Amino acid sequence: MYSKILILNFPAEITQKALVCQLTKKFDLLFNILRANISNKKEGYMVIEISSASKAAFNKGVTFLKDQGVTVSSPEHQIFKNEEICTHCGACTAICPTEALYIKRPEMEVIFDKDKCTVCELCIVTCPTRAMGLFTSDSQKVI
Ligand code: SF4
Ligand code: SF4
Repeated sequence: MYSKILILNFPAEITQKALVCQLTKKFDLLFNILRANISNKKEGYMVIEISSASKAAFNKGVTFLKDQGVTVSSPEHQIFKNEEICTHCGACTAICPTEALYIKRPEMEVIFDKDKCTVCELCIVTCPTRAMGLFTSDSQKVI
């Protein structure tokens, strides 16, 4: 049995489509939704474990999702926050779609909750001090 945990990001246009169910119908894959959320902008986020009898079938299912417009990444893609250079200006909290970056009050500290991060990378381009970055590894490829 081949099994892998993936992060799926759904653009607002396809959030309502039952694409994940198609994995079972079309490719005989099993899935277990570990976490799911829809943002205020109707964008979907899902952490899912997909299991398959073969890697080939798994790859077909992932390719199907990508073809439908779903962004597929693996948890090995990780965003990090460099506390040494973060000035707690709050700019990243305004653009973070999942509230993974938020202001802790009354301390007014900007906190990064890695578990909520969908690795959209918006904070990386927004941060004026480049405190936010992408940590990658060789195992990051989904297929
Ligand atoms: S934008 Fe950068 S410097 Fe400002 S709070 Fe976020 S991580 Fe810190
Ligand atoms: S990459 Fe940055 S902006 Fe995107 S969800 Fe993660 S913390 Fe928020």
